[in-house]
Amino acid sequence: MVEIVKAEGVYMYGPSGEKYLDLISGVSVSNTGHRHPKVIAAIKEQIDSYLHLMVYGEMILSPQVKYAELLASLLPAGMDSCYFVNSGSEAIEGALKLAKKFTGRSRIISFTNSYHGNTHGALSIQGSELYKNSFRPLLPDVFQIDFNDNEAINLIDDHTACVIAEPVQAEAGIIFPVNDYLLKIRKRCDETGTLLIFDEVQTGFGRLGRMFAIDRFNLVPDILVLAKALGGGMPLGAFISSHKVMSVLADKPALGHITTFGGHPVCCAAGLASLKVIIEENLADECRRKSELIKKNLNHPAILNVRGEGLFLAVVLADKEKVDYAVTHAPEFGLILDFFLFCKDALRIAPPLTIKDDEIIVACEQFNKLLDDVMKNTGPK
Ligand code: PMP
Repeated sequence: MVEIVKAEGVYMYGPSGEKYLDLISGVSVSNTGHRHPKVIAAIKEQIDSYLHLMVYGEMILSPQVKYAELLASLLPAGMDSCYFVNSGSEAIEGALKLAKKFTGRSRIISFTNSYHGNTHGALSIQGSELYKNSFRPLLPDVFQIDFNDNEAINLIDDHTACVIAEPVQAEAGIIFPVNDYLLKIRKRCDETGTLLIFDEVQTGFGRLGRMFAIDRFNLVPDILVLAKALGGGMPLGAFISSHKVMSVLADKPALGHITTFGGHPVCCAAGLASLKVIIEENLADECRRKSELIKKNLNHPAILNVRGEGLFLAVVLADKEKVDYAVTHAPEFGLILDFFLFCKDALRIAPPLTIKDDEIIVACEQFNKLLDDVMKNTGPK
């Protein structure tokens, strides 16, 4: 474990001047790097105006309004109603409640090896028994199907309130949909009156080489869930849908989701500034080129495969022992790396989108040296 006293751009610094290149971004949070000057300026400006004012919805808070407007302008027509909350988990809770209320149904279908957060509802739909078993009973009427399993799509029927999917499964080890899988799900949802929820908590804000996975796969969900990079380094989540769908939270009860700090003005100001940087610096498009540069320079024989697109990559090694060694010893090589929750033979590479070409070259050189060390100190495979 390393101690960090300062972080700036793609670097983190330890108490004795140690310098680490961040290849994880706090798991897809710091898409514009650490303490981007425009984000810091926006935070300072908002702090000088006001902090928290009221519980939710009673007052017009301009950072929320401006941020919601910019998001709506980037999303497909109809994704025009944005509900800000505190975190990814809370946004998932809001999205599930919204789907149940809109459809009048209770059944939820999610995917094996999916991760959606740790509150009770989010945990209930998570696709791993290990993390759920100690906390039962969880939500009833929740079922998991295997991602990319065409047959299982038939389980979506007119009792199903919603299907919730990460368009690219993150903690499963960067698993892409194949053979138009998401399109097939979209069609089945349409046939059965089921709402489709996309969890873009990790794929959002340029990481896949497009602003959102929605753009990558050319598909529109009924509800979109955002968090992590949404706050530009501050805690913020959101669930977004059409006004028609969202409006059911305004009636019986009038306040269908209440949150004291959700959409905190300082967090919205930070997130708005960060999103403007992603747009102005064309970071989503640049991400695709940078991805190729990484793939070209990660050429160590210990690497069996590099999975993924954009700056959302899984580097596959022979086994868990090698992955554990690499992640644990990465700081000695000046790198911050991380595991996946549900994929033990791969490690994650997801640097800030602001990483420069020369920083990528250095990171890859250090990564290849780290893998030399892995091969010297782990089993024969
Ligand atoms: N969905 C996905 C895909 C996530 O990766 C996460 C967090 N890792 C969440 C939801 C939950 O977000 P939070 O930790 O902010 O509650």
